[in-house]
Amino acid sequence: MTMAICPFHHLMDITARPKTVFVRGEGSFLWDDTDKRYLDFVQGWAVNCLGHSPAVVADALTAQAKRLLTPSPAFYNDTSLKLAKALVAHSAFDQVFFANSGAEANEGAIKLARKYGALHKGGAFEIITFEGGFHGRTLATMSASGKKAFEPLFEPKVPGFRKATLNDLASVEQLIDKNTVAVMLEPVQGEAGVWPATDQFLQQLRALTKAHGLLLIVDEIQTGMGRTAKLFGYEHSGIAPDIMTLAKGIAGGAPLAALLATEKVSCFEHGDQGGTFNGNPLMCAAGLAVLDVVATPSFLKSVAETGRFLESELQKLSARHGLGEVRGRGLLLAVDLKLPIGAAIVAQAFADGLLLNAPRPDTLRFMPALNVTRAEIMLMIDGLDAVLTKSGAARRVA
Ligand SMILES: *Cc1c(COP(=O)(O)O)cnc(C)c1O
Repeated sequence: MTMAICPFHHLMDITARPKTVFVRGEGSFLWDDTDKRYLDFVQGWAVNCLGHSPAVVADALTAQAKRLLTPSPAFYNDTSLKLAKALVAHSAFDQVFFANSGAEANEGAIKLARKYGALHKGGAFEIITFEGGFHGRTLATMSASGKKAFEPLFEPKVPGFRKATLNDLASVEQLIDKNTVAVMLEPVQGEAGVWPATDQFLQQLRALTKAHGLLLIVDEIQTGMGRTAKLFGYEHSGIAPDIMTLAKGIAGGAPLAALLATEKVSCFEHGDQGGTFNGNPLMCAAGLAVLDVVATPSFLKSVAETGRFLESELQKLSARHGLGEVRGRGLLLAVDLKLPIGAAIVAQAFADGLLLNAPRPDTLRFMPALNVTRAEIMLMIDGLDAVLTKSGAARRVA
């Protein structure tokens, strides 16, 4: 008799995952292969902005799949032209390059900034990024990230990134020299535990970068597409950046990303940038369907209201259990647990059928569907309340 091979064996073991197999999703709920239901406040890491398998995305994908999948990246297609036009109409930018993942879009942003430096700033190439920042898992985006755990990995890294401190203008100013071409940041640092850049900091940073002729790049991969209750996070501060990257929510669960730039900065020449699947109409169709919903003022207003409701319920929960501050913007929120119990809370919630995320050992992050209902929020609050009560009892016994 041979030993049965573990059903997970054929996938590279790149992260700790529960030994559960998900087979179906609808709105705020996921089901596993035993038909157990989970309430999902992770939503594929802030990806499913309209919940699991929304009809508008499924229908758009189906219709596009029947019409045209991919003509070739060397030809134009009608769907990507429409989506580029719509993204430009809704933003401070003039041109779009579509990519397949957030990291790839950020690689493009880094390349575009270096190209701009080569053409207009005497070969300046350095980009100032931030401690705690997260920009992806390719070699250059790991270098750009300010994540301590990345530091010893895959040496030698891509050079040309210097790290400043979020919301500390002097720390940025100190790093500027003749080699600097850009400053790059997330309007809210997501993976670091939901730390917003203040509006004032973004305004000062815009003024500083303008004064030195530097580009300002916003990584809106997590904060874009209505997550913070504005279509793009930079809008809260009223600034106009030079470059923006989008991914996660842009196609409601389908893999799509985008690099946007103003006319002046959009300086790629033939051969500089490209990719086989970039701008394929299938994913762009999903992007159009999502933007149609998310960019409407009534939808964004409802995200703001739902966000305030979730925030106030989290504050009450925090007060009941002696937890710390609730922070974030729109429907990207976090609660400080004050103790490194995040992983234990997430595991217990998972067992109870509730999906939560702990980006740091002492932080819980909430990134539900943007159309999550108040009833679903209360279901999550009640579930988390029960988990915290159990863990509190365990802490008192220990
Ligand atoms: C998720 C994320 C990325 C990386 O996107 P991928 O699609 O996983 O490559 C980059 N920046 C930010 C801010 C993110 O949240």
